[in-house]
Amino acid sequence: MPDQACKNCRFIVMQGGVCPICGSNQLTTKWSGMVVVLNVEKSEIAKKLGIKMDGSYAINING
Ligand SMILES: [Zn+2]
Repeated sequence: MPDQACKNCRFIVMQGGVCPICGSNQLTTKWSGMVVVLNVEKSEIAKKLGIKMDGSYAINING
């Protein structure tokens, strides 16, 4: 099964059906592009995407 991304916060959820960041169960396999945020406070892309915690995130959510 491909990894799922949270529609709410874009976090890539590797296992389980619930996003550990925001608690949403609105997950999708239709995503593309991935960004790994290691230092959210210094990351420009994290600011751009509205990311608030370190982790792996999908850049585009398609469905
Ligand atoms: Zn989420």
